[in-house]
Amino acid sequence: MTITLLVSPSAAGKTQFCIERARQLLAEQKLQPAWVLVPDRLQTAAVRRRLASSGGAIGIRVGTFGDLYQILLLRVGQSPPVSSEPMVYRLIESAVKDLLGKGELAYYGSVAHMPGFIHALRSRVAELKQARVFPEAFLEKAKKHGLALGEIAKVYAGYQARLQAAGWVDPEGLNWLAVEAIEGNLGLVGDVRLVVVDGFDSFNGAQLAAIRLLGEAVPEVMITLPGSPDMRRAAHRRFARSLADSQTTIPTAVVQDLSRQSALPEPLKHIEIGLFQSEAVPQAADGCVFFIEARTPVDEAREALRWIKARILRDGLRLDECALVTPDPERYRPYLREASAEFGMPLRFTHGDALASTPGIAALLDLLELHQQNWSRPLALEAVRSPYFDLGRFGLAPKDAEPLELVGLTGQVIEGLDQWQDTLARLARLEEPPPGEEGEHLQAPRLPVGAQAESLWRSLQALSRRLAPPEPQPTQAWVRWVEDLLEELCFFEQQETELDHASALGLRETFRALVLGERVAGETAVEYKGFLGELRSTLEGNYSPEPILLGQPAVLVLRVLEARGLRFRAVAVLGLSEGVFPEVEREDPFISEKVRAEFRLEPRLEREQAGLFYQAVTRADQFLLLTRPTLADDGERWEPSPYWNAATSLFMDPPVLIRPDDPRPLADGASSEEVLFSAVRRGSLTSSFGELLPRFEQLRHARDVLHARLAREAAGPFEGDLSAAQDTLVRAFGPEHVWSPSRLESYGTCPHLFFAAHALKLEPREPPQVGLDPLQLGKMLHAILEKAYCEAEDPGDPESVLTSVRQVARAEFAAAPQHYGFRPSALWDIEQAYFLDRLIETVRGSADLGDGWVPTALESSFGRDEIPPLELNIDGGPVLLRGVIDRVDTNQNGQLRVLDYKTGSSHLAPQDLVDGQRLQLPLYALAARDALELGEPIEGLYWAILAGRAGSLRLSRFNHEAEDVTYRGPAGAAQVALQHVGRILAGVRGGSFQPQPPRGGCPSYCPAAAWCWRFAPSMW
Ligand code: SF4
Repeated sequence: MTITLLVSPSAAGKTQFCIERARQLLAEQKLQPAWVLVPDRLQTAAVRRRLASSGGAIGIRVGTFGDLYQILLLRVGQSPPVSSEPMVYRLIESAVKDLLGKGELAYYGSVAHMPGFIHALRSRVAELKQARVFPEAFLEKAKKHGLALGEIAKVYAGYQARLQAAGWVDPEGLNWLAVEAIEGNLGLVGDVRLVVVDGFDSFNGAQLAAIRLLGEAVPEVMITLPGSPDMRRAAHRRFARSLADSQTTIPTAVVQDLSRQSALPEPLKHIEIGLFQSEAVPQAADGCVFFIEARTPVDEAREALRWIKARILRDGLRLDECALVTPDPERYRPYLREASAEFGMPLRFTHGDALASTPGIAALLDLLELHQQNWSRPLALEAVRSPYFDLGRFGLAPKDAEPLELVGLTGQVIEGLDQWQDTLARLARLEEPPPGEEGEHLQAPRLPVGAQAESLWRSLQALSRRLAPPEPQPTQAWVRWVEDLLEELCFFEQQETELDHASALGLRETFRALVLGERVAGETAVEYKGFLGELRSTLEGNYSPEPILLGQPAVLVLRVLEARGLRFRAVAVLGLSEGVFPEVEREDPFISEKVRAEFRLEPRLEREQAGLFYQAVTRADQFLLLTRPTLADDGERWEPSPYWNAATSLFMDPPVLIRPDDPRPLADGASSEEVLFSAVRRGSLTSSFGELLPRFEQLRHARDVLHARLAREAAGPFEGDLSAAQDTLVRAFGPEHVWSPSRLESYGTCPHLFFAAHALKLEPREPPQVGLDPLQLGKMLHAILEKAYCEAEDPGDPESVLTSVRQVARAEFAAAPQHYGFRPSALWDIEQAYFLDRLIETVRGSADLGDGWVPTALESSFGRDEIPPLELNIDGGPVLLRGVIDRVDTNQNGQLRVLDYKTGSSHLAPQDLVDGQRLQLPLYALAARDALELGEPIEGLYWAILAGRAGSLRLSRFNHEAEDVTYRGPAGAAQVALQHVGRILAGVRGGSFQPQPPRGGCPSYCPAAAWCWRFAPSMW
């Protein structure tokens, strides 16, 4: 019985040596099989391929230690069911809950309910089992290490007890049984002639125990390890511990140096030999080794994939001969996915997405939450819109989401079926509008009324009945309830993508785990909320199987550890910047380094990551690319990793720095989008890309639009210049058009705002909110003040008006939700008291402004209700104006003071009139005199109700100088306003609608704010 530790540097032919030995033995003794044990499925497939290409694999069994354990157990007649990941997760959760219930998790109690905690425990349990640390021994020894470790040990013991009670084993626990089996019967593997353990750079306790026993029973065992027998090089230090552990556990093992002449190209050989060696002399990279620095991880992912695509197209490599290695797959996954979709290059990640975040399952969790969330508007709309549910049996289809959204906006639906019912019932009482005109293709969705509203309510009601959870019941019954629901909604039939199918499989597995978990933990009735919490946390802690089928060629995306032992023709290693690779090492918060050393668990500190980097860069047979990002998330320079420096120092060729703005040859485009982008930048598309010509022309047009938008000064047809439509505009806004001051002000605030709001007639669509919106609040406060002054016995006496305000406000507040159509918030009572205080302040404050003013006209309209509009003469042409003056006061001399209430207090200064943003006051003063013929205005002011003070613009004090002309008093203010009106009319009729963010930023009510590229955050 010989056990040999074959040690040699990477790519020196260890695997090939073992394959040759196995084939030689098979040729000699055909009936005695050989086993090859590798770390994972990827390597299993890789070794099988190599065996096949070297002449056949009959008689040689390739698999993982897990496979070996199952074979051994089968041979002794044991075939325990192996628990799935969700089931393990569920059992650990059950153990934690049990301990929590008994008050035995004093240290971890506050975090024990978090999915991250269960996930962390799951990996610690796996480590302990792999190291053959038994629960009883751990429990005993943990006592001396304090409360926290003791609690981990209790969870471990509780979990193991549950697993055994169910009669299952977990994947790690198989090794215990297998080692026991072989210990008791070495003859179990008597037929095996050779065991090869290949592709590992470290072993756990269970693996070493199994190898030792195999060594006692099998004539020949060969274990390969990277490095050299002395393990002196910095790059090999990581493997020194593995070699030492192996020699300690298997003292009879003989170390054999297998340093063969490597067949790698010179630059790859150089990186293997020279990495971390100070005496290495830089060489030419010779088209074999590449270094790319890109701005961000997004650019880096694109560049790495572009490089791989070039190897496939230019060097004839196959997809499965290329790999990406990243130390941080979660960071790079979305970027790689996006670029691979654009480049048309399938990727296969070795790790799927968290089940709860996959689209179908996220939609399901939202649907199940609908009842819990009291039918919140966004969740209800998502459920109707979701492509994962067929709600036909309830009379709903995805197209109903749009009318329901309008219903929600109209009825201010926040949540609650009663709000949906209330709004739809009101709409059902309205008559159907006439059908749209023939041939009208772009009909906006209409607010559903009449029978349609009635039918929508019936559908929502039916769905709500189905989603209403029954009384508390056991988990098994809940699972059945959800499965029945999914059946009815044809959930599984609606899964279309590979990811959907993979996550649906994971969902079924999760259901099984929940049921089994309950069987072990004991059946108790749980409430819907509790079941939903369990389901969610199990889904959050488990991952979907990788969707791309193994048989389908794809570029592999590997974690660094997974790259060990595999070989590819082209390898790209990403993330070589500080803190990513090597990653910052932190002590494990659950099991300290001291305890790890005691139980021979992998350390978390001093992990010798240099050895991992050595493994990663020595995976390539032909081409190697190393990349790094240069800018951190905060925009600061990102320093290179020491590994990057070590690798680049070996070559004379400097790294290529990718700047997205640099021109790129069309032939380097990895997708049609990239080719078009480069072509538009250089201004031409070569004939070899003729099929892209139509898209090229579109993009050139888009480029012109973008240029215009990015210009410092807004100009041109893409920046609000509608001079080509002057005729239409003159017709729409000609002399007959009746203007309101606020409409003129909107142009004065920003011409493009006017264009969006009044020429295109767009309105911002705000989601419903609890309480009054600013418009409703303004209307309500105005109405109270108007009524209070009208109904006061003496409007000139503030005390009399105050009595009236209190009475009017009470009645108005009571009717306000119905009248203005809002849903009162929980603070409505407090808000009413606050508003009343502000109204009282308004009455008192406006009375204190000066003696002798008596309100004589309230809410005086002009330009409507048979009152003529104010007619202005601007540049020889008439301009008509309409409006409502909040209040006109009169003094003893019959002179007027115009007062306009505002809810807010911004933009009420003289400068706002000078800028053209506030024109109302001087125009109302003119209207009071000329349209309403109330007298001569000598004063005008804005009153900010909520601020309880007057604005600083007073017509009597207005004083503005411009171009040697002084504008004073009400007449001067009117002149300034009329100049603005003239400018605005010329602008509107001339089609000049350039966006100009106003001083102080863009107002939130601007309908263009959602897309306007000149948007400036507002202080309004
Ligand atoms: S977002 Fe600003 S700049 Fe753009 S249209 Fe509105 S107000 Fe004008």
